[in-house]
Amino acid sequence: MNNMFIDSHTHMHNYEDVLEKYQDAFNNHGLFAALNIFEIGKDENILSNIHILKNLNKNILSAAAVHPAHIDRISLSNAYNVLMTLLPYISCIGETGLDTENNLETQLDFLNMHYNIAKEHNLPMSIHCRYANIKYVTDLLLNIRYVFHCFTSSLSDAQYIIENTSAYISFSGIVTFKNAKDLIDVILYCPLDRMLIETDSPCLSPEPLRGKKNTSSNIRYIYEFISQKRNISIEFLSEQMKKNWLPFIKVV
Ligand SMILES: [Zn+2]
Repeated sequence: MNNMFIDSHTHMHNYEDVLEKYQDAFNNHGLFAALNIFEIGKDENILSNIHILKNLNKNILSAAAVHPAHIDRISLSNAYNVLMTLLPYISCIGETGLDTENNLETQLDFLNMHYNIAKEHNLPMSIHCRYANIKYVTDLLLNIRYVFHCFTSSLSDAQYIIENTSAYISFSGIVTFKNAKDLIDVILYCPLDRMLIETDSPCLSPEPLRGKKNTSSNIRYIYEFISQKRNISIEFLSEQMKKNWLPFIKVV
């Protein structure tokens, strides 16, 4: 299989055999590039792991930030310091954003800190936004590149994003779930030049593998699903995702 698929958001480093799993995805499942998302405050040895992944394949890029569910694990100033040491080696700041309505203010403090660094250093951001109003995010993130990763919100939220911001919308394996039919309207609506695709592994295995552990090798199921719904070839979709990816990401 040609190397055609970009996994725009994955946490493959959570696997002990991460190198074998990436190798399998690149060699046998058509993976072209991946953005490996590290979580500051939870993950150890992020910098050495960034180098290990890069040595395996130069198309494994890395991102880092404090996930909004982990804001009680590290102080804002420590997180800032860690992020500054990682800065020359990362291609994106994320994932960051808003998770629950609890501690919203602290989540916003972290989002703001991440945003200021992204803006100053011309880095894109990978945004997690669940159970929170997307306008908290769209009102804050001005004049930078960012993506709403693992989009599961409504069609009207998607329309708001496309019409009022320059953000991308990234779809995960959730779109293949039988109880996620509303997302098909979002797939049909989202302009192809504002779309990205991800596995978010090790969570969220797409159908027909739902319930099993997810890896970047499964990215093709999501590409297949979206290309069928949009009535375009998987090659056309892959070319478009590459066109979206290259100006979005910072290659380091
Ligand atoms: Zn994630």
